[in-house]
Amino acid sequence: MLKRVFSSLLISAALAAPAFADERPNILFIFTDDHAPHAIGAYDGWLKSVNPTPSIDQIAAQGMLFKNSFCTNSICGPSRAVIQTGKHSHQNGFMNNGNSFNWDQQTFPKLLKEVGYQTAIYGKSHLKGNPQGYDDWKVLPGQGLYYNPDFFTEDGKITVEGHSTDVITGMATDWLTNQRDAEKPFMLMVQFKAPHRNWMPAERYLHLYDDIEMPEPPTLFDKWEDNTLAAKYNELEIDRHMDINYDLFLDLTADFDQEASQKRQDRSAWNNMKRMTESQMTAWRGAYGPKDKAFHEQNLSGDDLVRWKYQRYAKNYLRCVKGVDDNVGNLMNTLKELELDENTIVIYSSDQGFYIGDHGWYDKRWMYEESLKMPLIVKWPGVTEPGSINEELVQNLDYASTFLDIAGATIPEDLQGQSLVPLLEGAETVAPFRDAIYYHYYEYPSVHMVPRHCGIRTDRYKLIHFYQFGVWEMYDLESDPDELTNIYETADPTLVAEMKEKLEALKEHYGDDSHEAEFTLEKKKEFWPEYSE
Ligand code: CA
Repeated sequence: MLKRVFSSLLISAALAAPAFADERPNILFIFTDDHAPHAIGAYDGWLKSVNPTPSIDQIAAQGMLFKNSFCTNSICGPSRAVIQTGKHSHQNGFMNNGNSFNWDQQTFPKLLKEVGYQTAIYGKSHLKGNPQGYDDWKVLPGQGLYYNPDFFTEDGKITVEGHSTDVITGMATDWLTNQRDAEKPFMLMVQFKAPHRNWMPAERYLHLYDDIEMPEPPTLFDKWEDNTLAAKYNELEIDRHMDINYDLFLDLTADFDQEASQKRQDRSAWNNMKRMTESQMTAWRGAYGPKDKAFHEQNLSGDDLVRWKYQRYAKNYLRCVKGVDDNVGNLMNTLKELELDENTIVIYSSDQGFYIGDHGWYDKRWMYEESLKMPLIVKWPGVTEPGSINEELVQNLDYASTFLDIAGATIPEDLQGQSLVPLLEGAETVAPFRDAIYYHYYEYPSVHMVPRHCGIRTDRYKLIHFYQFGVWEMYDLESDPDELTNIYETADPTLVAEMKEKLEALKEHYGDDSHEAEFTLEKKKEFWPEYSE
């Protein structure tokens, strides 16, 4: 049976492959987890002076950087499901991290295989179940671990020693060098866990940034005075919610062998630490032991404690980013060594943005700019103009159509995005690529307590509806890029009405009827005690 399936696959691949040498471009899709654009040098932002990303910046210098690239639902699994299917969350069925992805549905890797591409994925899938549509895959179970991670493979579970970012790159370069079928174009997805919480840098970067103070975000002490109550009842603040042990490893290395420590370091913090080899743990003790000692001597509280937590968090986050950047450089070098660099499109993106202390927060989920934005940098040798910047409103919804377009495949009509190929080719568009993006976040009540919301963002305005509570926010991104002034009540009523009409039109256009009904007054008060009508 297996043999029959295999030979029929061979026949269909042979039919799909053209008679001449297949010169369709290869696609290397590098995808990270929670890497905010403002933690990339090529994007402007308040972290620019630190610049942990020379290799990613190099891709931007040789390709196109999308300044207005957004997700449709700012959370790990759902963003990946949108990319797989080219459909919004309510259409692909993976609306929040608690869902399971239906791998039997149409995905872009399956469609690429049908037209003769060889496909592989290494790293974080976060979609549960065995990946379909790939000639080879090795994926982290769930969120995966930073040190000496396990992987699910077609042959069962394996454990590989090393830091996950380095290990995943090793799998990808091995496939490129030793396993790939050189007769076929490929689409290779390299999906790092980094820089996802909890931020564990590679051994070689444990002392990086020891000698500098991280710049602070201008909104580190934002009190969300103009927001609806949604922001006030969040649970993702550095001050109140970031755990000094779980998130920042305080005292964790010192008490490594003690049972008391194991109890305190609950959840994956302990799972991460206990996997380390003795030499990895020695390096961690050497790096964090003195820092923990200095912390205890300072006896910090209030804003000073927030500042300390921010420094430790931002440094670890950017140390993880630095590890990603090294490996992006390694992947670029491998392409060059294999003489694949001229015919390979390289894409760098991440599943959503992230708060690096912006508004006092960590994590994502909100439709505010820091978590709505995704980095998107594309280098297509001979096609993208080196160093070009594109400002059209694009989304992860567009990736599937783009990949299929690149491969010369038919784009199925049920895909909800648009191919970015005309933009990559530098086409002068008269009409905008898209006049507004549509967003819908679902996971509530849940970790971090960000209420369900939907909304739209145009090139200037953003309208957000926390529909379970019946409250709205609107921002003018031109005069207020940090979204500190909610103009929903004060803006020209005609403008607000137009934005609401546009939101309704997009809901209808994308067929989204997945909104839950508004809560009763009693339920609203249960979640937001200060709520009043
Ligand atoms: Ca993520």
